[in-house]
Amino acid sequence: MEKKLTMDKLVNLCKNRGFVFQGSEIYGGFANTWDFGPVGVELKNNIKRAWWKKFVQEDPSTYGVDAAILMNPKVWEASGHVQSFGDPKMDCKNCKTRHRADTIIENFSKGAISAEGMSDEEMEKYIEEHDIKCPNCGKRDWTPIRKFNPMFTTSRNMVGDEKDVVYLRPETCQGEYVNFLNVQRTMRAKVPFAIAQIGKSFRNEITPGNFLFRTVEFEQMELQMFCHEKDSMNFYNSYKERALKFVESLGLSEENLRFHDHDKLAHYAKAACDIQYNFPIGWQELNGVHHRGTWDLSRHGEYSGKNMDYLDPFTNERYTPNVIEYSIGADRLMLAIMCEAYEEEELENGETRIVMHFLPAIAPYKVAVLPLQKNLGEKAREVYGALSKEFMCDYDEAGSIGKRYRRQDEIGTPFCVTIDFDTLEDNSVTVRDRDTMKQIRLKIEELPAYIQKAIKF
Ligand code: ATP
Repeated sequence: MEKKLTMDKLVNLCKNRGFVFQGSEIYGGFANTWDFGPVGVELKNNIKRAWWKKFVQEDPSTYGVDAAILMNPKVWEASGHVQSFGDPKMDCKNCKTRHRADTIIENFSKGAISAEGMSDEEMEKYIEEHDIKCPNCGKRDWTPIRKFNPMFTTSRNMVGDEKDVVYLRPETCQGEYVNFLNVQRTMRAKVPFAIAQIGKSFRNEITPGNFLFRTVEFEQMELQMFCHEKDSMNFYNSYKERALKFVESLGLSEENLRFHDHDKLAHYAKAACDIQYNFPIGWQELNGVHHRGTWDLSRHGEYSGKNMDYLDPFTNERYTPNVIEYSIGADRLMLAIMCEAYEEEELENGETRIVMHFLPAIAPYKVAVLPLQKNLGEKAREVYGALSKEFMCDYDEAGSIGKRYRRQDEIGTPFCVTIDFDTLEDNSVTVRDRDTMKQIRLKIEELPAYIQKAIKF
């Protein structure tokens, strides 16, 4: 089966089939913001639910939280974001475009070099020695690297004094660190345990773009595992494996996934690895697994004045736990899943159909109810009413049955249930499978169990 996917094709399909619209479109848009439509919100919610199920529901050592987006500004001093964390940015003096020095190096080396952990001087030297040119105009005429703070700011009071500045969080993980003591105490949790969260983050990215890949507002699904140093490498390795298994379980294929271990690390980190996906724009980070040592809890201890140490009730040892972080963008994963699912299939009759082969568990709609003719609508609505109590269902009675099947293929609905005149006689319906296009006949009362079995995750 042949695949010819470009980002433009995907953006068009998303726009025309209700997955994703340009943000504020009627005002000409708002760069790098996207609105999820009726189909897209289902897909993204299903992805988030699948993640929560695997990492929170099925793991007794992981507790969920939903922390505030606006946090005490001291949090961002402790995390280092306020002072120094900004992205290393350079302007091309020739064409006046702005770029991230680390991204330029990583793209130039085709991912072989990770610039994370390189100083500004080291990056400037690398760019000069390798004669790396502006990807926009092809000249090498760079300004020196400057730091750029990616945090969006707002203010708490109407007057907007500098002292009232509040940040929109650029990462969700701080919500877990600041709740380490709360969760440990209220859940009577023993280290090792993890705190997980799904929520919005905001980054004033220098080089946003490529549709959902890099946006200024996005959702992260991530967890922080708190553990003793002696266990930390085991947890790090096991989260690498679990992270890979998870994305494979949602349908991403082995040949489009790879680990990318960082050889240069942030000063506090002990190990770091991304899982990369082979997007239409090339191999890019899908998620990260980072061994952050004791940096986060120590810093919050220092800045808040609270003791963030853990007293082991069995050994009486008091220590600052190490943190293993696993973080994946919900939007970026949705993009990868759409890329993987997309197929333009040549049919025997010479026509082409576009099919989104989503894993049924995460497909936006599980079933579409289609009366063969409009005058079968009453029976069809009865079937829809029964099925929609259990599944997200679509209902469509407009146009030829062939066109309606194609529409469902394009939004990845695994089953189409067609109501015909025989249905009125024998209470049975035709069930069409999205991938094989094979049709079987089932009794209406057999439908829920049939669908349930197929969507189990
Ligand atoms: P990148 O190198 O791509 O900027 P990062 O290393 O800054 O990513 P993390 O801070 O580790 O990313 O964030 C964890 C995950 O959140 C990423 O792996 C990605 O899936 C997602 N993510 C990060 N930034 C964005 C963004 N601007 N838009 C969409 N998703 C993002």
